[in-house]
Amino acid sequence: MKTIIEPFKIKSVEPIYFTTKEQRIELLKEAHYNPFLIKAKDVIIDLLTDSGTSAMSSNQWAGIMQGDESYAGSPSFFRFEKVIQDITGMPIVIPTHQGRAAEKILFSILGGKGKYFVSNTLFDTTRANIEFSGAEGVDLLCEEGKYPTISAPFKGNMDVRALENFIVEKGAANIPLCIITVTNNSGGGQPVSMQNIKDVKKVCNDNKIPLFIDACRFAENSYFIKIREEGYADKEVSEIARELFSLADGCTMSAKKDAFANIGGFLAMHDEKLALNCRNLLVITEGFPTYGGLAGRDLEAIAIGLKEVMEENYLHYRIRSIEYLTNKLIAAGVPVMQPAGGHAVYLDAKQFLSHIPVDQYPGQALVGALYISGGIRGVEIGSLMFGKYDDAHKLIPAQMELVRLAIPRRVYTQSHIDYVSEVIIEVFNNRKEIKGLVITEESQMLRHFTAKLKPAE
Ligand SMILES: *Cc1c(COP(=O)(O)O)cnc(C)c1O
Repeated sequence: MKTIIEPFKIKSVEPIYFTTKEQRIELLKEAHYNPFLIKAKDVIIDLLTDSGTSAMSSNQWAGIMQGDESYAGSPSFFRFEKVIQDITGMPIVIPTHQGRAAEKILFSILGGKGKYFVSNTLFDTTRANIEFSGAEGVDLLCEEGKYPTISAPFKGNMDVRALENFIVEKGAANIPLCIITVTNNSGGGQPVSMQNIKDVKKVCNDNKIPLFIDACRFAENSYFIKIREEGYADKEVSEIARELFSLADGCTMSAKKDAFANIGGFLAMHDEKLALNCRNLLVITEGFPTYGGLAGRDLEAIAIGLKEVMEENYLHYRIRSIEYLTNKLIAAGVPVMQPAGGHAVYLDAKQFLSHIPVDQYPGQALVGALYISGGIRGVEIGSLMFGKYDDAHKLIPAQMELVRLAIPRRVYTQSHIDYVSEVIIEVFNNRKEIKGLVITEESQMLRHFTAKLKPAE
């Protein structure tokens, strides 16, 4: 088989600024060992997130110029609305400035004390918005999803039995929504099967609990269904996506992921009454319902991106490039989440740095080592992000200690990815020298964004 090439040519380029290892040691210290506090110009390969970092196409840039900035009833909104209606089959489309703004609106209305939101795995902003409303978020991930090195095709699936049990335990009346995150961002970018969504939908229906999709990576998930689930090989990705959304009552989406946009999001649904409440809140927090926190030009870029993302040449290359990096690391003995997910490579820091205890944040320590060694910026998805404290202020660790290396869409080429694998393997071979970290300053919510750390004694 020949090399799978990037299915695009480069028309506009951005420089990468190089730093030395000595400089990066100082820069990391100045950033308090938190990659979110490093300046982007001091990063060589930025794998912090795939969110809002996509390269837009020439078509999207052309769309930017066609954006109509009318306050009300902009044609850009109607194009945006039509594309989303076509993909999701949902008649009501509410634009927001990001995914979390859609979440804030939804959970402000449906949340509150004593309520539970169940999910395969809630993303951090989703969980934070649920908790901010006073409600509780509950992850019911399938068993195989909990072990990074077990290989299974749909490790993002929800545990349907656990869902049934949870409903019996807490009562359906206390569960306003079930949310399926596709792909499962916090759980390794692993996909959810169509069958699993059908099974979850049935349980939801039996208990009159609406099902929402957190649709940030719907195209990547749909492509996984095409290549991994029986009966889907000959279907178009757009058909698969349409089937997936047909099982749901609504969705939230960040357009910064599978819409190749640098900003944006939306809520879509069937329920008119819920939509009325959402729009009321939208007007006071985001904007008028035909722009909702976005410029007309953003609405255009999103509408075009949502169609481009379902092109199979693109998805083939996209999924393959993640797999390519994953396989290189496996061959070198580096512990990575398997199989490769949709948008990122996840290093298993617990195994990678088995000499560092979880309360010294091995994931964060590994993030620092990758930066120092090669100027690569990744993010910890482990106990810094999801850890809690018990009453004695002892850390209750997260289920997994992962480092996510998210690959921006259409941004880096194969040689960038080769460089990344070389750096990771070098760090792996010198892993015993890496030390743990302790927190010196933190906030109560989403602490990983702002926390300050220092090397453990
Ligand atoms: C990024 C993301 C969100 C939040 O979207 P923002 O646009 O960053 O606010 C929600 N859920 C998942 C799964 C995500 O990946």
